[in-house]
Amino acid sequence: MSTLIVGAGLAGLTAATELAAHGRQVTVLEARDRVGGRTHGIEVAPGQWADAGAAYLGERHTELKALITGLGLATVPTTTDGQSRFSVGGGPQGRDGRFPPLSALALGQLFDALDEVTRTVRADAPWLTPDAGHLDRTSAAEWIGQRVDHPDARLFFPLFLGEMMAADPADVSVLHMAFYLKSGGGIRFLNAFAGGAQEDRVDGGAHRLGELLAAGLGDRVLLGEPARAVEETGSGVRVHTDRGVHEADSLIVAVPPLLADAIEYRPGLPSRRAGSTTVPGCAVKVHLVYERPLWREYGLSGWSVSADGPLLSTVDDSPSADGVGVLTGFVTGREARAYAALDPREQREAAVSQARRLFPELPEPIAHHVTDWINEEYSRGCYAALFGIGDWAALGPHLTTPHGRVHWAGTETSTEFFGLMEGAVRSGRRAATEILKAYDD
Ligand SMILES: Cc1cc2nc3c(=O)[nH]c(=O)nc-3n(C[C@H](O)[C@H](O)[C@H](O)COP(=O)(O)OP(=O)(O)OC[C@H]3O[C@@H](n4cnc5c(N)ncnc54)[C@H](O)[C@@H]3O)c2cc1C
Repeated sequence: MSTLIVGAGLAGLTAATELAAHGRQVTVLEARDRVGGRTHGIEVAPGQWADAGAAYLGERHTELKALITGLGLATVPTTTDGQSRFSVGGGPQGRDGRFPPLSALALGQLFDALDEVTRTVRADAPWLTPDAGHLDRTSAAEWIGQRVDHPDARLFFPLFLGEMMAADPADVSVLHMAFYLKSGGGIRFLNAFAGGAQEDRVDGGAHRLGELLAAGLGDRVLLGEPARAVEETGSGVRVHTDRGVHEADSLIVAVPPLLADAIEYRPGLPSRRAGSTTVPGCAVKVHLVYERPLWREYGLSGWSVSADGPLLSTVDDSPSADGVGVLTGFVTGREARAYAALDPREQREAAVSQARRLFPELPEPIAHHVTDWINEEYSRGCYAALFGIGDWAALGPHLTTPHGRVHWAGTETSTEFFGLMEGAVRSGRRAATEILKAYDD
């Protein structure tokens, strides 16, 4: 039995590897000229790589960790030793820990409110949550306005959502926000370095996962093959790409919902893959490269949070202790849209002058890299697709239901660790299991 897989991200490559291990014939059709999708490495110095896409993982990411070990890769801890810098009203201030110097009472109020709404949501089926209709029809921006009154809490909320989900509060329903936080292991796990979802990185870069999975599949991975149409023939399925037609007994579509929706299906789908308010998520990553991790010499962690962009947070993502220093700046939500519209010279100047204000003791970076995920034709979901008003009610029950011989994978089809690498790997395994059960060899 043969299976076509559309998309060579972690989900598609995991599914293909699993099926191949069971002796099934697989072909992966990838639109880009590279594998890995939303994991992507950039070489910041000869032989030294930084993550332009996904980077962090934690101990609850059990499938991802098993994959890393299985591929002979290792993890390195995210470096957080030293003082942080915060710019949230007034000039930059140094302080220990990862939370800005805002009213502790206000932040407590915000996290209590988030905890409360997150507790009620059904992570396995958000659309069945009690009061799902109301939560699905309310945006996170409306919710914060109704639920929390302290100005510090209102100031911090978009920064929190930007960092967690690359979301502008106006773009997501409160049901999606609560689901995302619960699916990812809860606020405290998601929001922590030590013991949390940002504890480690893949040594050498997360893109190594895709590269090694693809190497294992060899010529069964075809690049430059964007799927445009899917046709069920009765006894099989045909995929039309820009280069030709591929046939197999079954198909896994492992691309983000907005891109899956752009493919033509014959017969048509009973429900769309993305809702009318689904938006791609807004993230631009900026890497500022220094001769070495110089901030450590000043007792600084490299972690910063700013209320004004473009870099809403920075983190030390240096590839190794004895190589170049890399500060990754996260530009998310509304800031990301504005930043992505600047020309490259303006982008550099905005990022470098902010780094200068935050870390006046540092020299100018020796290089910088901007990765604009908003305008990536074949991602449309960075970090992940954001479900807006009414999306969960419309999409939820259909996200994983096969359409004849067409099966679905991708992090947005996983109710566990939705939006994360872990969710992608789990979705790939789930789709492969579906195929193995549905079609005898
Ligand atoms: C800036 C950024 C930071 C992130 N940070 C983290 C993090 O720290 N930790 C974490 O766990 N996750 C993070 N994520 C999310 C993580 O990258 C994703 O959840 C995961 O990689 C998704 O994998 P996937 O296989 O589901 O989708 P993708 O990686 O998007 O793979 C889909 C593949 O399908 C291809 N494709 C699309 N359309 C077509 C078509 N029509 N025909 C053929 N091929 C097609 C694409 O080119 C792509 O290769 C981040 C993402 C971004 C962008």
